[in-house]
Amino acid sequence: MPTAKTVPYNRKTRAARAPAKAAPRVGLVSLGCPKALVDSERIVTKLRSEGYELSADYAGADVVLVNTCGFLDSAKRESLDAIGEAMAENGRVVVTGCLGVEKDRILAEHPGVLAVTGPHQYEQVVAAVHEAVPPLHDPFVDLVPPEGLRLTPRHYAYLKISEGCNNRCSFCIIPQLRGKLASRPANQVMAEAERLVRAGVKELLVISQDTSAYGLDIKYAESAYKGRMLKARFLELCQELGSLGAWVRLHYVYPYPHVDEVLPLMAEGKVLPYLDIPFQHASPGVLKAMRRPGHQGRTLQRIAKWREVCPELAIRSTFIVGFPGETEEDFQILLDWIGEAKIARAGCFKYEPVEGATANAIDGAVPDEVKEERWHRFMAAQQQVSAGIAAARVGRTIDVLIDEVDDEGAVGRSKWDAPEIDGSVFLNGATAVKPGDIVQAHVTNADEYDLWGEAVSIPTPRPSAGRGLG
Ligand code: SF4
Repeated sequence: MPTAKTVPYNRKTRAARAPAKAAPRVGLVSLGCPKALVDSERIVTKLRSEGYELSADYAGADVVLVNTCGFLDSAKRESLDAIGEAMAENGRVVVTGCLGVEKDRILAEHPGVLAVTGPHQYEQVVAAVHEAVPPLHDPFVDLVPPEGLRLTPRHYAYLKISEGCNNRCSFCIIPQLRGKLASRPANQVMAEAERLVRAGVKELLVISQDTSAYGLDIKYAESAYKGRMLKARFLELCQELGSLGAWVRLHYVYPYPHVDEVLPLMAEGKVLPYLDIPFQHASPGVLKAMRRPGHQGRTLQRIAKWREVCPELAIRSTFIVGFPGETEEDFQILLDWIGEAKIARAGCFKYEPVEGATANAIDGAVPDEVKEERWHRFMAAQQQVSAGIAAARVGRTIDVLIDEVDDEGAVGRSKWDAPEIDGSVFLNGATAVKPGDIVQAHVTNADEYDLWGEAVSIPTPRPSAGRGLG
């Protein structure tokens, strides 16, 4: 029978809290049987490897972890008392271990506890500690510096949710360069998104190599976020990001079946009605030679369904012309397809061999002059599609996020346009706005890519965030 046991913990020694730049310090109270002790050792080993220090007393700890026992009533009582003591002495407490399965009981007695996780939930408890006291920045591990060194203007920011890629597209060597998919825990992504929104970011641009595969590598692991567990899954992440009050734009989304689930969020205005999907081609033969992921063969029907759910959806994409073996028939399929799919924005690249790419071994190199000619035909066809979509917006009143202002007016973007790669909205005479404002504008004119309009409302300052950022 396990007996409750407390790992020595000096409650009397008082030490100054660590200075801001020092390693974060974790106090540990470990109760219960040797298995629980081993759990504590694993958790502590992980935290130490991330740069956390152990604190020998409550006062020197930035957060206290209580690993509980729940085997006997007396052990439960001792665990609850230990949590109470840690709350009284420190106040920042994460609870784990066997009693963690009785979360409601713990929170009823100690409502100020930061997080409760159960036995063997190593990742969750470590994530809860991360949320309570972030680890020091490790440039070899972190994808984005916590301080958020940014090269973008203050009002928009890129939010990288994963690194690497599990696909093996034949023209690409990114998996060789950056390795396999490595997703960030959902609570880390959300913590960064919240920091950005607090700092004045109005538009979050979600990026990765393969955004809709988010979480696959970590089996959609849950992590502690705002007192609950959040799955590292594309839909859940979009839902949470959509609650922050900023525009959320999704880039590099491969059309896996579960992408359908985010369209309702777009229809509700939680996520921008914009999908950046690098289709690369439309001909089944070329897509097969490219070894593209997410190719369903019935993409047009899916796009039509997406538009039934969210009629405002704008699709941006990139394409490659002149891929080895691409015939005139393949190319014509592509031209027809972009018209039917109503691709609003497209980047087009003439195929170039990349050292180390398997596509180099594919027969049927397309001559340079044919690539050039196809590129021009592609751009002309795409311009027509884009111009038709832009013309349909004349006469509407739309939201515009202001990017730049000078003494002649302002330049901004609609929900259908990402910075740098898509079109602009020109608001001549709108000088009383500033970058980051979202104004309503009446669209008066359009060309192939850009819109012109008149600002009809200058916004009162928006709250910097929605739910949960107070
Ligand atoms: S092109 Fe293919 S292999 Fe390369 S990063 Fe994108 S999905 Fe991965």
